[in-house]
Amino acid sequence: MPADQVDVLVIGAGVTGIYQLYRAREAGFSVALIEAGDGVGGTWFWNRYPGARFDSESYTYGYLFSKELFDEWDWQEHFAGQPEIERYLNHVVDRFDLRRHMRFGAKVTSAVYDEASGRWAVTAADGSCVDARFLVAATGVLSVPFIPDIPGRLDFRGVQHHTGLWPAGPVDLAGKRVAVVGTSSSGVQVVAAVAGEVASLTVYQRSANWCTPLNNRPISPAERAQLRADFEHLRDVLNSSASGFLHLPHDRTSFEDTDEERAAFYERMWESPGFAKLVSHYTDLLFDDAANAQWCDFIARKIRGIVRDPGTAERLVPKDHQYGDKRPPFVAGYFEAFNRPNVSLVDLRDTPIVRVTEQGIETTDGERPFDVIVWATGFDFGTGALLRMGIRGCGGVPLDKHWADGPTTFLGLQTRGFPNLFFPGGPHGAAGNNPRYNGDQVEFVTRLLAYASSHGYETIEPTRDAEERWMRLMEKAASRTRFGSIGQYVGGNIPGKPSRYLLNAAGRPKLQQLLAELDAGGYTSFQFGRAATG
Ligand SMILES: Cc1cc2nc3c(=O)[nH]c(=O)nc-3n(C[C@H](O)[C@H](O)[C@H](O)COP(=O)(O)OP(=O)(O)OC[C@H]3O[C@@H](n4cnc5c(N)ncnc54)[C@H](O)[C@@H]3O)c2cc1C
Repeated sequence: MPADQVDVLVIGAGVTGIYQLYRAREAGFSVALIEAGDGVGGTWFWNRYPGARFDSESYTYGYLFSKELFDEWDWQEHFAGQPEIERYLNHVVDRFDLRRHMRFGAKVTSAVYDEASGRWAVTAADGSCVDARFLVAATGVLSVPFIPDIPGRLDFRGVQHHTGLWPAGPVDLAGKRVAVVGTSSSGVQVVAAVAGEVASLTVYQRSANWCTPLNNRPISPAERAQLRADFEHLRDVLNSSASGFLHLPHDRTSFEDTDEERAAFYERMWESPGFAKLVSHYTDLLFDDAANAQWCDFIARKIRGIVRDPGTAERLVPKDHQYGDKRPPFVAGYFEAFNRPNVSLVDLRDTPIVRVTEQGIETTDGERPFDVIVWATGFDFGTGALLRMGIRGCGGVPLDKHWADGPTTFLGLQTRGFPNLFFPGGPHGAAGNNPRYNGDQVEFVTRLLAYASSHGYETIEPTRDAEERWMRLMEKAASRTRFGSIGQYVGGNIPGKPSRYLLNAAGRPKLQQLLAELDAGGYTSFQFGRAATG
């Protein structure tokens, strides 16, 4: 098949890729987008499991580039569920006539940089080929589902799905014996959503998590009108806030308050929506172990108050980490589910899984039969998708070899030796409310490409010095943060994966400062060039 030629090829039709496609086209580039899935949505296309929903407020997650778009979409809930999010992203694609640039069902298997032409030759599994000047891999940090290598998994005769590969067609769970393996953000959503309809639900927990209430509710007509009236203010706050949320930071540390004041504050936090529990908490929550322990004790008391069986309650209280060491899940009815007679908890620390059998799951405590197994076992975070696309840079060097010890990036956007490749929303980029950080990166990439084009440059690559400075910043910041310091943000869930902090611990304000300096100063951290041919 002859290759299509474009200025900018975007890979991935998630919230980042859609925005990059829109921005690049608006900037006057010829564009195309290819996507492995059969539709728009990225995370919200693949994660169709029961209970899948936002932890970000819907109107803070949606795009902010068009007031008309903001006004015409009626989010139904403060934290929308997957079907509504998928509908929204499809609406955006059609509203801005982006679908005609998109090819679905095309998984990129090879992307090779040609030094002579300064172009990328991209091939997908459906046989399509694209020849692009600039390649933007908006392939997501949570887009490669991971299932542990448990013996016998393929022998299971029932139905089994990973939450991140949930089929579009119906999966009948009513009256079935269901196992959910994994109790992080997705697993806890599934448990709460299906406990009432299944015959039995067995929850396999490797480590308990610090779950707190999401506190979702419908958006009232008055609230919707207020949000629209406040659009400009809301956009300004979201475009500049450190977390990308509307929640305001607190101004006190834990022990500045009396015990009574602290207890009342914790109650307010428990009742607060979603990520307010991190953003608006005492400022020492993630920096002072003693302060953190107070909040953990409060949550533990809540768990013991909700879950009637004391043994189960105790197993649901985390013992191996403090709040924020792992990304904390937000829940609605998760702990309550364990009060149902049909729901039970298996603690894999006491009784590890031995194998999956034809009938069910066998632990050291014996075998339990199931009709359905739900694998809520996470993702190959950060680098998973980028390392599975056959990317080869200068000298034919494969990206997986280049990143054998973990990713090296500049601004979480480029890596040296791979000119004209960008990966907004990739490693060292994402933390907090994703579309806000990723949007900053997309807008910067677009300005950078426009700058290069207007100066007749055909290749863009960070300087060695710039990348080294950024990496020193990443490493220093990572050594100081506790947020996500264990688990998938450091590759801890994938056997053999190098242990590296995969978020940008320096935070959004630092990223925004650096991007603004580069915009103002002529992009001196990049090496621009002209290709020898074409
Ligand atoms: C269940 C779940 C809930 C979440 N909730 C929130 C939330 O509430 N708030 C928040 O801020 N973040 C949340 N996230 C994080 C979420 O991933 C981001 O918000 C956002 O979806 C990232 O968008 P993206 O476009 O960068 O990547 P994705 O949405 O992951 O899209 C990447 C796309 O690239 C495609 N792709 C990958 N490799 C290839 C290839 N080789 N060829 C072709 N296509 C490819 C994938 O198929 C995918 O469609 C959640 C994640 C999960 C899994």
